[in-house]
Amino acid sequence: MKTIGLQELRFSFRQCGVEEGDLLFVHSAFGSIGKVQGGAEAVIDVLMEILGPQGLLAMPAMTSPFDPFDPLTSKSNVGLLSETLRNTKGAVRSLFPVHSVVALGHKAEEFCSDHDKCTSGCGAGSPFYKLWQWNGKVLLLGVDQDRNTILHAFEHESKASYFMSLEIPAPLYPPYNGNGVFQLVDFPEGHRNFINITADLRENGLIRYGKVGNAVTQLMNAKELHDFCMMKLSEDPYYFLCKNPNCDFCSRARKGEKM
Ligand SMILES: [Zn+2]
Repeated sequence: MKTIGLQELRFSFRQCGVEEGDLLFVHSAFGSIGKVQGGAEAVIDVLMEILGPQGLLAMPAMTSPFDPFDPLTSKSNVGLLSETLRNTKGAVRSLFPVHSVVALGHKAEEFCSDHDKCTSGCGAGSPFYKLWQWNGKVLLLGVDQDRNTILHAFEHESKASYFMSLEIPAPLYPPYNGNGVFQLVDFPEGHRNFINITADLRENGLIRYGKVGNAVTQLMNAKELHDFCMMKLSEDPYYFLCKNPNCDFCSRARKGEKM
């Protein structure tokens, strides 16, 4: 297999629509790119180089709900690229169990700030809200819409009826400091059929496709994605759920049952 060099990375990301000054939120499967010269660090370096001093690179740095969340040591469980960004000098991590994010660059601190003051990890005030409020872009790098966490933020805005509540070990940041339990309220558990909305997004010109190595990329403007999904959710509050009668979660949610 051919190794992808820095020049090709630079060229490919630009072709995908990554531009100087962007707020870029990346969901990725690093291995899907193929063999990259310089590894995951090189991908982050190239992205930071394209984004420039006014740009901001952000990624989810999600963690398991079963272990207490330690912002300093809890590894991201959503791929090598996000774990590498978390370990990059200057990267900032937001304080919230499960739905923590990591950011590097212009206004990284502000992007991650006050996540701990949010009621819910993807709710109002979270980095996922800022993503569209700051006119950011979402890049799916070798992954599909089922990884696109901002869609949960739209569910929050539309006051979805099917969120759950979950009790987890308290996180290791103040004021919890690992003591007792933490209540995840309006937690986006259960099935979503996010992949199913791809056709709608594509038909409405909301996805720009590209390729980085072997990885297919989908780039979306977060504000446009927000406006489209909010319109769809106002027409059908269950737009993100499946219609499979054998899917217990979606069937119950559609009947308005308490989750
Ligand atoms: Zn379902």
